[in-house]
Amino acid sequence: MTLLSICTTETIKSAASALRSGNLVAFPTETVYGLGADASNQTAIAKLYATKGRPADHPLIVHIASLDGMGQWARDIPDYAITLARDFWPGPMTLVLRRSKLAQDFITGGQDTVGLRVPAHPIALALINEFYNQGGLGIAAPSANRFGAVSPTTAQAVEEELSQYLLSDDLILDGGPCLVGVESTIIDCTGPAPMILRLGAITPLMVEESTGLVALESNPAAIRVSGSLDSHYSPKAKVILDVVAETGDGLIAPDQIPTPNGVVRLAAPSTIEEYARDLYRALRSADQKGLEVVVVLQPGGDGLAAAIRDRLRRSATR
Ligand code: AMP
Ligand code: MG
Repeated sequence: MTLLSICTTETIKSAASALRSGNLVAFPTETVYGLGADASNQTAIAKLYATKGRPADHPLIVHIASLDGMGQWARDIPDYAITLARDFWPGPMTLVLRRSKLAQDFITGGQDTVGLRVPAHPIALALINEFYNQGGLGIAAPSANRFGAVSPTTAQAVEEELSQYLLSDDLILDGGPCLVGVESTIIDCTGPAPMILRLGAITPLMVEESTGLVALESNPAAIRVSGSLDSHYSPKAKVILDVVAETGDGLIAPDQIPTPNGVVRLAAPSTIEEYARDLYRALRSADQKGLEVVVVLQPGGDGLAAAIRDRLRRSATR
């Protein structure tokens, strides 16, 4: 495995060609780092699942460069999905659509739908476009962590998480820390109105304002979304929500909350955006420091705050 910290045109070319040869390439997006593989190459996808330790029936998101790719990977696309794509792509939003023949069972976990996203990150977009130039059609990229663990928001976190599982021709592209910090909003677009399957930076209100439709509640039992499993996003340390931190505990809390004596402050965000951006780095740092307990005081409010509480609830469940 090689970590490339300067992404030139040459780097992007060799990363795209590594993907086309069936290797894995971790790359930055605005949400978290993805672990990419050629979405048309079954052997590469099998390698991706093995590297993540992920069950094979969990579907993958296919990353494309623009709205144009939608028609290739999906069919029967409703008008409201096109509206969402126009309004929020490139961006932290995944659309689940009826799949075309291109989206084979090894991508969709055997379901009749495919998850698509156009990420808003210059390195990700350059990589996808160069991958197209080399004959590729889409890059499957789940978060670049072991199954159930905390998503990485820096290239160094990807390296710590996966270096022992990646092979010599696999690459990690370093694009600095991710700007959003929590995974994309996932919206099921197979019904008469959008249904939010996973909360994220694109909020239900934004979806409603864009489409003029009321966003429905999800029914996680009906569709497999690994981000909807009860236990997910967990560090080794035990995460406890909304209690008073004791000596030796780690603490993640808004900046106006003081740090009690003997408590290790892991993050003190002053805005909700900063909270999202810092959360996974802070959870990882608890493990690096060998802490047994991390106390997290959850943010209040709608939108991104609700997405943060959703991840925290899962990271505290075991
Ligand atoms: P991750 O792969 O960890 O970044 O998370 C991506 C999420 O997208 C997972 O929870 C997947 O289960 C979900 N996903 C991808 N494709 C689909 C699909 N066709 N239907 C429902 N969820 C999907
Ligand atoms: Mg994940």
